[in-house]
Amino acid sequence: MYLGLSIENSVINAALLNDGGDFVWQDSHSLDHDIMSNLLEICGALVVNATKAHPDLSESIAVSAQGGFVGQPSPPDGLKCLAGADLRANLQASLGRSVALASPGQALSLYESRFGAAKDSAVACALYLDNHVFGGVTFGQKLWRGANGIVGAWGHTPLAWPVPHELDERDCWCGRSGCLDCFLSLGGLETEYQNITQTRLDIKAIAVAADANDLVASSVLQVLDDRIGRTTAMIINMFDPDVIILGGRLAGLDRLYQNVPRKWPGYLLVERNETKLQKANQDTFTLAKGIACLAIDPAI
Ligand SMILES: [Zn+2]
Repeated sequence: MYLGLSIENSVINAALLNDGGDFVWQDSHSLDHDIMSNLLEICGALVVNATKAHPDLSESIAVSAQGGFVGQPSPPDGLKCLAGADLRANLQASLGRSVALASPGQALSLYESRFGAAKDSAVACALYLDNHVFGGVTFGQKLWRGANGIVGAWGHTPLAWPVPHELDERDCWCGRSGCLDCFLSLGGLETEYQNITQTRLDIKAIAVAADANDLVASSVLQVLDDRIGRTTAMIINMFDPDVIILGGRLAGLDRLYQNVPRKWPGYLLVERNETKLQKANQDTFTLAKGIACLAIDPAI
């Protein structure tokens, strides 16, 4: 049995994967306090619950989180206890187990390559578009992490083919400017709408307004289509994947799956494109299930 834990700000989700590739147990626990001791305590409780349900739990577990990676900044609006922390070392010391740590984008990438839209794909790329932007790449259903473990960190690469005004005042929390996280995160989209209207709406309200022919909301979503189009075109030119999968709350916009591929011809090196764009599984436990796959099969 292989355990995956997904630390998702106010909640930690857990999923168990058996040797046959079936998910046999899942659980979740809310974080009571944004302190490392509470986070470790809850992870420990979930490991105990998993062991009670299935005593043959493997020694190694896998965890996904938005921060707590050594030498990398953590999102300022995420868990404060992860800022500057070595989450993997903390978990290993607290749980007495070997821990593999990866980003939500890498967890999503693994889930989709094993069980979702990329299960028949030799090469697949995932973009996780939520509070922040993460990504992942799988080759032959194995996660490719790279020399520094950051393959798929598109959130902190520049927006592709920017027009001049897109380079202005886009300070990113990573300390740089012009990162994709400023454009393709939920906060980035909401700020785009707010800058024009002086009113802040969430993604659902912007989508509803666009459907009701609100010109600003429609325009903001059209710009989003174009920016995701340029981003995914850059990914195709780099990796030429069979499929690109969009996950996270922003990926719930159905318009993206028609509009984004229409942007590709202007940016791709080929005339006839074979890469598909697909929506990720939106299940609450998708990331926990995906990261459990890293416990059964180490990354390349
Ligand atoms: Zn950045």
